[in-house]
Amino acid sequence: MTANLLDYDLDGLAAFCERLGEKRFRATQLFRWIHQKGASQFEDMSDLAKSLREKLKTTAHVQALPVLSQHISADGTIKWLFDVGGGNAIETVFIPEDDRGTLCVSSQAGCAVACRFCSTGHQGFSRNLTVGEIVSQLWFAEHFLRQHLKKDERVISNVVMMGMGEPLQNYSALVPALRVMLDDHAYGLSRRRVTVSTSGVVPMMDRLGKDCPVALAVSLHAPNDALRDDLVPLNRKYPIAELLEACKRYLQVAPRDFITFEYCMLDGVNDTTKHAAELVMLVRPGAGERVWCKFNLIPFNPFPASGLLRSSQEAVLAFSKVLSDAGIVTTVRKTRGDDIDAACGQLAGDVQDRTNVQTRIGKRRTIIIRPENEMSPQGREDTIND
Ligand code: SAH
Ligand code: SF4
Repeated sequence: MTANLLDYDLDGLAAFCERLGEKRFRATQLFRWIHQKGASQFEDMSDLAKSLREKLKTTAHVQALPVLSQHISADGTIKWLFDVGGGNAIETVFIPEDDRGTLCVSSQAGCAVACRFCSTGHQGFSRNLTVGEIVSQLWFAEHFLRQHLKKDERVISNVVMMGMGEPLQNYSALVPALRVMLDDHAYGLSRRRVTVSTSGVVPMMDRLGKDCPVALAVSLHAPNDALRDDLVPLNRKYPIAELLEACKRYLQVAPRDFITFEYCMLDGVNDTTKHAAELVMLVRPGAGERVWCKFNLIPFNPFPASGLLRSSQEAVLAFSKVLSDAGIVTTVRKTRGDDIDAACGQLAGDVQDRTNVQTRIGKRRTIIIRPENEMSPQGREDTIND
């Protein structure tokens, strides 16, 4: 087995090159070819010595995850389903906006946290993704999009670790992957533009603050422990008071001066103005004790097994008003890619059945990429249905 170079951050690649008897600057050149130019064939890397290219051919490869399907929404959102083997798949979503392009990246196949309102959680946990599997989502998407949109410069300006899985339960792969995203010789994203979203793995929040302090989003979803224990079972291990203390510690090193609290709006469960008032008390109980935060209200994306319903628009507005009136910046997440099931919590809900190439019908514009294809970002587009 040769090494997949997508598995390495720059230090890892330097160590790999050293084992081949090569200096660190060669690793930097190689890293730039792979991540900045999207190259996967060593013979294309023209400024590397021929002897090194020959050595690389026998010891290494650059290989993204195989693409099972790709769906392009009418609003430009693109969702890819990648095969991670063993009948499992993960999803990655690109969300274009006027001033940015955001990639929503997965960190695990399935998730062990088992939140009640999350279809990934309902699937159970299959396995952690490797560094290369996390990085390959960005590598593939960025270079595919440059081709697809005919752009020479960077298309993806933001990464959110909000796909499938709990990133802080795959910490040892997450951190090197984040380093690749941030590295100026690779994607050069600023720490403010890379967000880790967590259901609240308190000790790992502290470690992230020390090792790689990127922007942090915390999935709160409830204003008290009784309700949060039920919705986010991890709360029984790390209750709200501990979580908020960890948020305050993180703020001392965070690239932004606030934490984003995500709050999934569930009809009749956590969406009354009483809940909102309780939240206000939680994040600003008194002078000096405030947790600097913003709230992002996410309309629940229903799936049948949850037995839960989306809050009404009126409930969301009333809830949001209580927070805003208390001086807390509050946004309501727009649902994007509705026509291709690309919204939060809808990701790979039925992964186990999706190991074959599939076609979507109707108004959806679907490009199907055959899985047997050698997948490079320039992968062949087989079919386009409008
Ligand atoms: N595991 C991490 C990151 C992935 S989930 C976390 O929980 O933060 C990304 C976001 O989508 C989280 O805020 C999560 O609570 C939310 N989410 C999950 N399922 C959802 C659903 N069905 N509808 C709306 N939001 C959902
Ligand atoms: Fe896991 Fe996040 Fe889904 Fe909870 S919301 S089950 S932590 S992916």
